[in-house]
Amino acid sequence: MRILIVEDERRLAETLADILTQNRDLADLCYDGRRGLDNALSGIYDAVILDVMLPGMDGFEVLRRLRESGNATPVLMLTARSALGDKISGLDTGADYYLTKPFETAELLACLRAITRRGGELRPEELEFGDVTVRLATSELVCRRRSVRLGAKELELIRLLIANRGILLSKESIYLKIWGYDSETEDRIVEVYISFLRKKLEHIGSQVKISVVRRIGYRLEAPE
Ligand code: CA
Repeated sequence: MRILIVEDERRLAETLADILTQNRDLADLCYDGRRGLDNALSGIYDAVILDVMLPGMDGFEVLRRLRESGNATPVLMLTARSALGDKISGLDTGADYYLTKPFETAELLACLRAITRRGGELRPEELEFGDVTVRLATSELVCRRRSVRLGAKELELIRLLIANRGILLSKESIYLKIWGYDSETEDRIVEVYISFLRKKLEHIGSQVKISVVRRIGYRLEAPE
């Protein structure tokens, strides 16, 4: 699973990332609310671990905006505050679970398993855009009777483009969301993967295009 951690206490954030990595999950870190929201909105995460007290925008606001935009990614709220009022507020805004600090590793992993199982029922098995269907379970790109298998990064890229339909995504933002902040590859890799995806769309005879707006970014387009 790929999990987003939004937590401003860096040591805790890194500990969480270590726990997830040891559990063979992928973890991305954000240290403030605004960046956390921006990343969570990409729709590429299986779950979000969200702190309440954050600089920029607090966790409740991040969650409220995320749900308002129709994003149903399972969210585990994390906080030092154990007041009942917070718990109710978190659940009202659409948090799937509420964990108070400090917590045990086993408790955290059990919560994540629980919310992602529930999330699995909400998450579609297929994404559609124009004449194209993405089968998430088998990583297939399908158009009518033709299909092609996608690599892991290609699948993330098409998910990101579909989740942001109609919106121009900059090369930098695609790079950060898919390859991450501490990646050792160069952002030129985005162009390489865009061209892989274009070839695959062409191969299955799809009318869907990835248009590029010079200096601004990429956008998925389908003829009406
Ligand atoms: Ca905090």
